[in-house]
Amino acid sequence: AIEDLFQFLDKIAEKKDIVLEKEIEKDIPEVYGSYNYFKQMLMNLVDNAIKYTPSGGKVKILAFKEGKDLTVQIKDTGIGIDKKHQDRLFERFYRVDKARSRQVGGTGLGLAIVKHIVLIFNGTLDLESAPNEGSIFTIKIPLNNNEYFRG
Ligand code: ATP
Ligand code: MG
Repeated sequence: AIEDLFQFLDKIAEKKDIVLEKEIEKDIPEVYGSYNYFKQMLMNLVDNAIKYTPSGGKVKILAFKEGKDLTVQIKDTGIGIDKKHQDRLFERFYRVDKARSRQVGGTGLGLAIVKHIVLIFNGTLDLESAPNEGSIFTIKIPLNNNEYFRG
């Protein structure tokens, strides 16, 4: 289940000397929809948070109920993203710093996939970030409005 995923992410974070904190509210209602999509969404965001945060930094995953939504936040203390890139970030293959991106590896598809999955869950995706201060990705998924995807 989701615990396996967290264990896996803990290991990646540990390797890079990044503290991975989780603050998951107890008794969050079930989200209807594909578990695999949800996992992929979380994975891509946490993978980025770890990848774009230097050693010694911190990544935090929060999940809590907020009104009729499940809110999931991934916060990091990493390199951040300049305003001028933020609009295009969710496009396929878009990467901020091509030279540096080549070093850390990847294809530039992660966030495009996240955006599509959030749409499938009828959710919204928000980014707050400033260079050298870190990033906060916020996802809100309606808890009762996605019956259609049940099963
Ligand atoms: P892939 O996810 O396919 O392995 P990627 O991580 O480069 O490759 P995306 O996940 O789509 O691609 O991210 C796009 C770009 O957005 C990244 O190349 C990086 O420049 C920037 N980015 C994404 N997340 C963060 C973050 N948490 N902090 C700073 N920059 C980020
Ligand atoms: Mg990525």
